[in-house]
Amino acid sequence: MPPSELANADRKYQIHSLHHPIDEQDTLICASGNGIRIRDTEGREYIDGLSGLWNVNVGHGRAEMAEAAAEQMKTLAYFSGYAGSATIPSIMLAERLIGLAPAMAAVFFTSGGAEANESAFKTARYYWRALGEPEKVKIISRIHGYHGVTLQAMSATGISAYWKMFEPRVPGFLHIPTCYPYRFQAPNPGETPGAAAAGELEKAILREGPESVAAFIGEPIHGAGGVIYPTDDYWPKVRDICTRYNVLLIADEIITGFGRTGRWFGLKHWNVTPDILAFAKGVTSGYLPLGGIMVTRAIQDVLDSVEPANRWMHGYTNSGHPPCCAVALRNIEIIEQENLVENSAKMGDVLFHVLQDTFADHPNVGDIRGGKGLLAALEFVEDRRSRKNFAVQKDFGNRLRSELRHRGVVTRTRSAAGEHPAPGDQVLFAPPLIIGESDIHALVAITKEAVNAVLRS
Ligand code: PMP
Repeated sequence: MPPSELANADRKYQIHSLHHPIDEQDTLICASGNGIRIRDTEGREYIDGLSGLWNVNVGHGRAEMAEAAAEQMKTLAYFSGYAGSATIPSIMLAERLIGLAPAMAAVFFTSGGAEANESAFKTARYYWRALGEPEKVKIISRIHGYHGVTLQAMSATGISAYWKMFEPRVPGFLHIPTCYPYRFQAPNPGETPGAAAAGELEKAILREGPESVAAFIGEPIHGAGGVIYPTDDYWPKVRDICTRYNVLLIADEIITGFGRTGRWFGLKHWNVTPDILAFAKGVTSGYLPLGGIMVTRAIQDVLDSVEPANRWMHGYTNSGHPPCCAVALRNIEIIEQENLVENSAKMGDVLFHVLQDTFADHPNVGDIRGGKGLLAALEFVEDRRSRKNFAVQKDFGNRLRSELRHRGVVTRTRSAAGEHPAPGDQVLFAPPLIIGESDIHALVAITKEAVNAVLRS
């Protein structure tokens, strides 16, 4: 089908995630990928600045991944993973994952991130109920957090645009401010943003009553909400508070897992271990859909010790799907063989430094975030001193995305959400973990040109 017909058929027949026809005037129809680059149906090539949707960690066009899927499909494409049966790749992958996250004890597989978080919320409820505390059901999450868009996951997501047309949210989900050093000012002099934001968690638990709170969920470093880095004291304090009040800590490692931050998992940076670890995306580098949760021994013991009549009645047809698990095993092998966790750390430093060298003196760049692997952002302001955002009507974020695309880079931008302390326009970077130094320089140079083009117009 020629490109123009494809675009017409897309408009006519497909409902997209976050659907609105306004975005379908100039749809990027991606036809192929190789390494850190993708190509559209017109043959134009782009640097993939966001690894697809933060997931193509090993890069595009890996024949080994296709071979792992094909081999498994030819051997056994599907069999049930419900209690009492299993398949070989799911067992091997579960063992492999626990080897990578040794504080965890057991794995449950899903098909994606929202299902992983759904499973985490239900498991938290189940755990407390099994221990005789059925009133512990509330889930605390953070403003700017993104946890998916199924009804529970959407209710945990702290970005109101996702709820607006789908209200009411699931009861018992509440949001607290996050650690956002550039925008969230500690109310007490001398307090770090991390201490203040962790204090917000403690206040919320006390306000709601610890006997009603099942879990707290957060991304080690925010992704879709703006690649927001916490200060280093934040996560250890959050861990202490969760432990003190018997609140489970759910780490949403859906973006930050599998080398994205220069470690296998993001919370490793602060030596914090969660009670439940949700993963997806990078576990297969997006070659097939897979996600899941890992839980600690304490949770596994509860699951294993209840009466059969109170069993964990949760599960999916595609849980432990054999080709998806086989692809994940191959993906993990590639990450290890090619030292991609280390490359992510090293190239993440390069990216952060090149961004600083390029934009530290730029009058409209208020915040440069990065330094933990290949996860970085620039936040733009009209005035650096007052942190005043560009007017929403200026549409800086969308215009920047389009200027980047014209110059051969596709990545995520965000638009200003209002006046300071609301977030400003942003550009987010999460390139494949195989990226090298020269491509980082190219990515940042194109970003600089694109930013200046938006400012000139
Ligand atoms: N959590 C985080 C941190 C995510 O980034 C995402 C997806 N962007 C999700 C959950 C939801 O994953 P999915 O889209 O696979 O449901």
